[in-house]
Amino acid sequence: MKDSLLFIDPHIHMTSRTTDDYEAMRDAGIVAIIEPSFWLGQPRTQVGSFQDYFSSLVGWEPFRASQFGIQHYCTIGLNSKEANNEALAEQVVDLLPLYLHKENVVAIGEIGYDDQTKAEDKYFRMQLEMAKELDMTVQVHTPHRDKKSGTIRSMEVCLEHGLDPSNVIIDHNNEETVQDVLDRGFWAAFTIYPKTKMGNERMVAVIKKYGSKQIIVNSSADWGVSDPLAVPKTASLMLKSGVDRQEIINSCYQNALDAFGKNGKMNPSAWLENKGVDQSQLFLDNSVLRGQKPKIDTDKIV
Ligand SMILES: [Zn+2]
Repeated sequence: MKDSLLFIDPHIHMTSRTTDDYEAMRDAGIVAIIEPSFWLGQPRTQVGSFQDYFSSLVGWEPFRASQFGIQHYCTIGLNSKEANNEALAEQVVDLLPLYLHKENVVAIGEIGYDDQTKAEDKYFRMQLEMAKELDMTVQVHTPHRDKKSGTIRSMEVCLEHGLDPSNVIIDHNNEETVQDVLDRGFWAAFTIYPKTKMGNERMVAVIKKYGSKQIIVNSSADWGVSDPLAVPKTASLMLKSGVDRQEIINSCYQNALDAFGKNGKMNPSAWLENKGVDQSQLFLDNSVLRGQKPKIDTDKIV
């Protein structure tokens, strides 16, 4: 039964992951992903580092994903942590319009608060204005410290700037924030962490309590301890725990598509009519292979 379910992981940092992850994700039923632009661990010191990173999210990484049968989308923005380097932040914000119209960019993100500083607030608001002007969806990263107040503040600022809550995804929720997010009409995304914070069992309990309306499950897998299979694993646990199949489809596939699909760039035909993998393809003369025989699924419907 689980085998026929398709999944979208709408928050995963594939730049930091391996080809083994891509293979395991596709085998587990993940057909599409969204990679938010984020902090890379090492703080960037020059605007060119951001430019090359954004270019990779709209160029090389979608190609790499396609070589393993996964459709790759991304969100582009200045993350909260690096908004604190104001001299650099200014230049990064100037760069954003060059990328926001690229064909796999589905939202401005992930933006919001980390330590809730003055500089973070300034660049969050600046990017919300940009989203309003371009009628774009926004993916909001909520702080891990002062979670509840930071989440409420993020939503209040979005409303203050006149954003439609149905066009804003509030990410990294937990049991303490979900009701406030749902009450205000925003999308409530949950990140499943392998050992701490929000785990699979807690997510199942959330779905049982609140249902699946406006609720989205993601892995946020990155360079830290994380699990790129968090979405299918949570779906599997939901199934075993007696959660209705439609609730699983909503929270692990359909809601992500509805929330991020508003600008029409995320189209299910991209994966439903996918003819399979062709690893003989090249991106700027490079393949993902290292002398291996390319895998080619000619005429195969996946
Ligand atoms: Zn993230």
